[in-house]
Parts: sequence; structure tokens; C-alpha cells
Amino acid sequence: MNCDKPRENLVAAELKRRAGAQNLDVFDEDFAALLDDEDELRSFREKFAYPRKETLPEIGQNLPAEELAEECIYLCGNSLGLKPKSADAHMQAQLQKWADMGVYMHFEEPLPAATCDRYGREALGRIVGAEPSSVTLMNGLTVNLHLLLCSFYQPAGDRYKILIEGGAFPSDRYAMLSQIELRGYDPEEALIQIQPRAGEDLIRIEDIMEILKEEGPSIAVVCLSGVQYYTGQKFDMERITWAAHAEGCVVGWDLAHAVGNVEIRLDEWGVDFACWCTYKYLNSGPGCIAGAYVNKKHAGRSSKSQLRGWWSNKEDTRFLMQEHCDVAPGVDGFRLCNPPPFLVALVIASLEIFDEAGMEKIIRKQRLLTGYLEHLLLTYFNTESSSNSKPFARIITPDDPAQRGCQLSLSFSLPIGRVHAELGKRGIVCDVRQPNVMRIAPAPLYNSYSDVHKFVTSLKDVFDKLAAETPLREG
Ligand SMILES: *Cc1c(COP(=O)(O)O)cnc(C)c1O
Repeated sequence: MNCDKPRENLVAAELKRRAGAQNLDVFDEDFAALLDDEDELRSFREKFAYPRKETLPEIGQNLPAEELAEECIYLCGNSLGLKPKSADAHMQAQLQKWADMGVYMHFEEPLPAATCDRYGREALGRIVGAEPSSVTLMNGLTVNLHLLLCSFYQPAGDRYKILIEGGAFPSDRYAMLSQIELRGYDPEEALIQIQPRAGEDLIRIEDIMEILKEEGPSIAVVCLSGVQYYTGQKFDMERITWAAHAEGCVVGWDLAHAVGNVEIRLDEWGVDFACWCTYKYLNSGPGCIAGAYVNKKHAGRSSKSQLRGWWSNKEDTRFLMQEHCDVAPGVDGFRLCNPPPFLVALVIASLEIFDEAGMEKIIRKQRLLTGYLEHLLLTYFNTESSSNSKPFARIITPDDPAQRGCQLSLSFSLPIGRVHAELGKRGIVCDVRQPNVMRIAPAPLYNSYSDVHKFVTSLKDVFDKLAAETPLREG
């Protein structure tokens, strides 16, 4: 559903109740400050390096000096999470170990290089709802998607198709297309991309169910995003997994925008495989080592379809340098290379923060923080194109908190590039995705309610400025 009208929801009701109890209005700056005071995660912001306005490349040079020295408003954790301050020490420890002992660093604590990919498992498992032995750190997201598909995409007979969502992240689509072509199938026929209905932005769950019923017997793999990068729509992973399994399909999830953002219970849902990057909500730094999951029910299956490297070996045969690879069961057997402790150190720095906060608190704050953003937007902005000629902002992300995470995707009647540039000059960091959305993602670990309040007032400011410039051009 598109939210074209302010709608009374539970979050809005809670906001009104809490504001009312203090004789404040929900839109008051003081109310944002109050929410910050009462925020059980407020101290976590201190754990992150928060960029200042003056060090951002697109900052307006005419901002007053005291404003330049302020922290920016960072709402781009959907793209690249902020750096944990502890990352330096974790990385430095590995560099120092390398300096101090060279090759001995392979087996010396902290984070012995030879086994460092095992170290984040417990914490990662807690975030994706998996036994530690079913998850690993390795490679990057797209590489892992390929490695997993090489094994889990086994087209045969009438069952050879892959189902993804329409408008999927291009890298995922390219991966699927190349896997289909590698196996000698025609992507035109073998790749099903489920689309929103005409005139709608979101994919309806009933349409996914319908496709599974109609096409199920011809689908080998269902692999959607847990949270869609463009619309911010969160899919009902449990229900889709269950329905696809009932049709005999293998089910994988791309959790790039879901991990560290929404509740995930891979083991309980019976998901076959999953992969994710760690640099978005998991804050491990650009291109950092990624995560992968294989359900332990696959531990006994043949490894013939898996691509192998020396790291695919069981640990006790890895260094025997034998002729044949003695493939480790489950996700461990998908590893090919020795892992980089420098990158793992960055992931560990981030996972320590997640463990200290706990996903439950993170998700609780996420619902209120994004609900607050939504509430302010719906109140301050015209959300209809028809009512009058005033410019409008529209939220395309679902209005149901259970169907989204941090991110709201906005589209505007004003040229989106201009809106983005004006926000950038004011020290607001967010991103634009082609063709027409601005993604705003307040992250519970380091964003405050005041950040959201400042963003909305700045957006209003930008709207007033651009609306005053005539004629308005669509862009
Ligand atoms: C961010 C993202 C990627 C990026 O892939 P890399 O291999 O890490 O470069 C891929 N797919 C989705 C859905 C993403 O959100």
C-alpha cells in the first residue's frame, strides 16, 4: 500500500501519548529531545565516528563556522554504516601482530588469521537467527551469491527457473542471469521477476503466493531480498519460504538490507541459504568481508556441485595438502580462500556493538524512530499530487511497521537531484537511487530523534526554497 494519507497507527498513537504527557506537541523540537533522553540506546551514538559537516565534500561553504563544526545528519546507514570508533584498535592489533610475528600471526590470539572467519559466528548467528556453525564470513556478497547458486541452483527437467523480485538490486539480477546462462538456459524464460501491479510501487504478498502456486513446479530457486533496497519493503520471509518449500523450490534470501535491521530467524524458517554484506547496517566498512548461511539440513548433501578451494576442506585435512579436497559439511565447505583478519577485525568491532545493544532493543527503537520520521513527513508534507499545485513528497515504503525496517523511500514532485543537492549543502547525508527515490534510513545505533527532526525541518526548508523558484521542472 502507498501511504497517501496520514493514518492513525500504533506508533503515531504512542508518540502522541508521550508528547501529551509532557504537554508537548509531537512536532516540537523539545519532544525530539525528550525522546532522545528516554532512548535506551542513546549512549551507543558515542561508539561511532560521526562525520562533521565541515569534512563532507558537498557541504555549503557559506554555513556559519559553528554550524560547520557540528555533526552532520547521517541518514545513509542503508548504504554505508558509520565507523565504530573501536575499529581502529581492532585493525591496529592485527597490523601489529603482522609486524611483530609475521607468519606466526596465523595461529596467535587475538583473532588467529588461520581461523579468524570462525570468530564472528556466534554474534552473527544471533543477528540472523542461526546456529553459529551455519554461518561464516567470506568474500563479498555477489561472490557468495554465485558460490551458493552454483550449488543450490540445480535446474533439471521442468524445474529450471529462478524467481526474484522485479527491480532487484542489479548485482543480484546479473548474478541470476549469468547463472541461468551458464547452465544453458534462456534468461527470458528462466528468470521470473515478480512486479508490482500497474500503478503500484510495492509487491503484494498475494501476488507472490499466486506466482508460487502457478509457476512453483517450474521454479528451482526462489531468491528475493529480505528488505528491498529501492522501496524499503520488507517481505514476509517466513511465509514466502514456507510457500516456496511447499512447491518444492529451494529458498535463498539476500539479506543485504535486512541484516542488523529487521528480525531474521533463518533456522526457524527453514531457509536453505542466505547471504549478506556487512557494510550497510552492520557498519563494517566499504566492501568488507560478507556473510553466508547454509541450513544445517544440507550438511549431508553431496558436495559435487560446490566450487572448491583449500579452505573448503575440513579443518583437520586442510593443511595436509592432499590431492582431493575433503569438503567440510554445510557452509564451511563453501569457503575457498584463507580469510583476511584485517577485514574480520572490522566486522568483530561492529558485532561487539550489536551484542552489547541486542537486536531486540535495536528493532524496538527502529520502529519508533522510523515511525516518528513517517509521522513528521506525513504531517508536514503534501502527500497528494492532485489536491493542489503545491509540491509533494510521497513515501513509497509500506506504512505497516512489520513490512519495513529503518528506511523510508521518498519521491518528490520537485526535481529529486535538486532536493538532494540542497540537503547535502545543509549537512544532511542521504542517497538517491535511480529513477526516483531518496532513501532515508535513521539507524537506531547512532541516529537520534533530533536527527530526524532536523532532517524534516531541513527538507521543509528546501521545499520552500525550490517551490519559490519558478518555473518548477520535473527531473
Ligand atoms: C548492497 C547490495 C549488493 C552489493 O553487492 P556487493 O557484492 O557487496 O558489491 C548486492 N545486492 C544487494 C541486494 C545489495 O543491497
